[in-house]
Amino acid sequence: MKSSQNPKLLIDRFGRKVSYLRISATDRCDLRCVYCMSEEMQFVPREQLLTLEEMIRIGTTAVSLGVNKIRITGGEPLTRTGILQVFQALGKLEGLDDLTVTTNGSQLARFAQPLKDAGVSRINISLDTLQADRFKTLTRNGKIEKTLAGIDAAIKAGFKGIKLNAVILKHRNHDEILDLIQFVEHRQIDISFIEEMPLGLISEHDRGESYYSSDQIKADIRQQHTLTKSLNQTGGPSRYYQLNHGASHIGFISPHSHNFCDQCNRIRLTAEGRLLLCLGKEHSVDLRRIVRAHPDTQQPLRDALINAMALKPEGHEFSLTEQPVIFRYMNTTGG
Ligand code: SAM
Ligand code: SF4
Repeated sequence: MKSSQNPKLLIDRFGRKVSYLRISATDRCDLRCVYCMSEEMQFVPREQLLTLEEMIRIGTTAVSLGVNKIRITGGEPLTRTGILQVFQALGKLEGLDDLTVTTNGSQLARFAQPLKDAGVSRINISLDTLQADRFKTLTRNGKIEKTLAGIDAAIKAGFKGIKLNAVILKHRNHDEILDLIQFVEHRQIDISFIEEMPLGLISEHDRGESYYSSDQIKADIRQQHTLTKSLNQTGGPSRYYQLNHGASHIGFISPHSHNFCDQCNRIRLTAEGRLLLCLGKEHSVDLRRIVRAHPDTQQPLRDALINAMALKPEGHEFSLTEQPVIFRYMNTTGG
């Protein structure tokens, strides 16, 4: 059914139902991960960011149109002043089955319990290494203790799901795959291994040379563990396996080796209010203009979301050898 036939649903030209919105709460971050940002980043002027109320309004409208999962991400979402308000408001929405967050964990020791209380069900925490000096290098000066304390606090708060995200780079952290596996297995949490995506111009390393494929990661893991395809696939880009028939699940996000566009159910809202229809393409709609032009009526925002479906591209390809065609960085994209 086309969206025009049922205006309560977001369905694109290829019949894909959009049910998942990722909101970038800020493009700013307290870390500078080498694959995500350049050393000298220009951030969006604060007055151009969506206000917390505007984020809530767009999230609420999306849920009224059939979105049942929202992830708050960034930049580092937990560095945005007052962000808890957004979680608290969205957490009350009828029809929203899953309210989730992706964080670097640096602020999580104090935020884990309030997030759980606000209705956050699942949490993704980024951790690429267990070695303090490497963490410092990969994040350009981050402190691993803070993220580890954040993980402990999340486990204590008792979320329905806790998953680590690890971007694997050859010769930087690929030798830690088995250590990371041991870390999650011991804590009965999950992990996704991610192939680096060519978003934004970086000079710190060559993305082609650092490429470490999901197939290589799986082969490394299988030297010591069994991986069984999990029945719990989420419909997202991660492909999940059960580790040693135990509690931990291992996901693989493989934008280079396994394209995931045909099942794409997601849209992204940047911190300045651009609705991005595809991670790897620039098709977008300026929702900030619409919410500011129509502060008291919902219909223009609803129409904009429904009409945006006609712009969602069929898919994208990433290249390991070409310079990126996408100049926006992952922190602006709402990764
Ligand atoms: N700051 C939070 C964090 O690090 O979890 C949330 C935002 S961050 C952009 C979301 C995820 O994107 C992180 O897991 C990070 O590792 C991943 N990421 C950032 N840049 C990437 C890139 N170029 N390729 C693949 N993943 C990337
Ligand atoms: Fe910050 Fe997350 Fe990007 Fe690292 S990956 S620089 S923590 S936004």
